[in-house]
Amino acid sequence: MAPIERTERGSGRDLGPSRIELTRGDITREPVDAIVNAANSSLMGGGGVDGAIHRAGGRAILDECRRIVDAQGPLPAGEAVITSGGLLPARRVIHTVGPRWRGGGHGEAATLASCYRKSLALAAREGLSSVAFPSISTGAYGFPVDEASVVALEAVAGALRAGSPVRLVRFVLFSDADLDVYRRALDALAG
Ligand code: ADP
Repeated sequence: MAPIERTERGSGRDLGPSRIELTRGDITREPVDAIVNAANSSLMGGGGVDGAIHRAGGRAILDECRRIVDAQGPLPAGEAVITSGGLLPARRVIHTVGPRWRGGGHGEAATLASCYRKSLALAAREGLSSVAFPSISTGAYGFPVDEASVVALEAVAGALRAGSPVRLVRFVLFSDADLDVYRRALDALAG
């Protein structure tokens, strides 16, 4: 296993030319090419990280989301779309809809993995090289963070190992407890 570098902000791991970083903080302040929003299917904002992103990003993001839903209908779980970053330091926002936890036997892990994969694929298509993710589905949607962290890191590592042009994926965790859980999952990541 590659050595894990510890920094004040968190920890990280290199995967070929790309890097996964973990940090604690507010994702709305991340100066990356794109931050990912844990949205709901309506794309009309909500609580948690979704509310924070729309509050900080301003009206333009919501207007773009409305146009997307008008054109293609509500966004299904596991899918991703992209808007501008409005007033955020990030240039773009990728909106993805995580699965609601229903006990684990309803494909929740596969849907969650799809959120990460499709968000990174969209970033790649748009020529973006740094992406920050929150811990999708582990707030209001109730996905246990232990299991979600493994799904998230395996999905991202899989995409990077498969040659994604994205060079930095930063997980921005909202609590020290979540950061610890993701750290353990990153330490345990195979290869
Ligand atoms: P979901 O509905 O997908 O569960 P939530 O927004 O309820 O989404 O929660 C997802 C995670 O995002 C939770 O761990 C929550 O604490 C965290 N979160 C909330 N606000 C922020 C923020 N500003 N930056 C980063 N993470 C946040």
